[in-house]
Amino acid sequence: MMKAAVYSNFGGPIHIQHVPMPSLKDESSCIVQVLATGVCRSDWHGWKGHDDDIKNHGLPFIPGHEFSGIVVSIGANVSKIKVGDRVAIPFILACGSCSECQLDKPTVCLDQNQTGFTMVRISCLIGSFMISVPLPMTTAYIKICSFYLKKNTQILEWKLCRICQCHKGGS
Ligand SMILES: [Zn+2]
Ligand SMILES: [Zn+2]
Repeated sequence: MMKAAVYSNFGGPIHIQHVPMPSLKDESSCIVQVLATGVCRSDWHGWKGHDDDIKNHGLPFIPGHEFSGIVVSIGANVSKIKVGDRVAIPFILACGSCSECQLDKPTVCLDQNQTGFTMVRISCLIGSFMISVPLPMTTAYIKICSFYLKKNTQILEWKLCRICQCHKGGS
């Protein structure tokens, strides 16, 4: 079991609960142990009940989508990262293979997932307010460079959310 921050009512209190440890969803997925996670206004909208994906998923719910951490498990088909890599996770997890991704436009991916909002491909819809997060492998993972290893990784995560929203968005 691991700790997670969970809400059971939109706009209601968030409690620390114990939930099952995640397992690899398939051989193309990975699990990241969260070292830092931010709180974004998008999380606030989800908590207030403004997001259809979360409403369709239902409660209780574990939010959070701006995070960085360390790779603790990978499937057999994952080659871009390895166990022990420190990574920052972008809001939009692009599929890497659709027509938009092929045009190097991952922020408008046609088959995207968003941690803490939509995780259809791996049949879960959970966020980063917990110890370990299962993720589909995508081309959009960004390793933390040595410069940031000396800094607070949360700074990078905040920048990453902004970069992800701006980079080729809507183009
Ligand atoms: Zn955000
Ligand atoms: Zn795509």
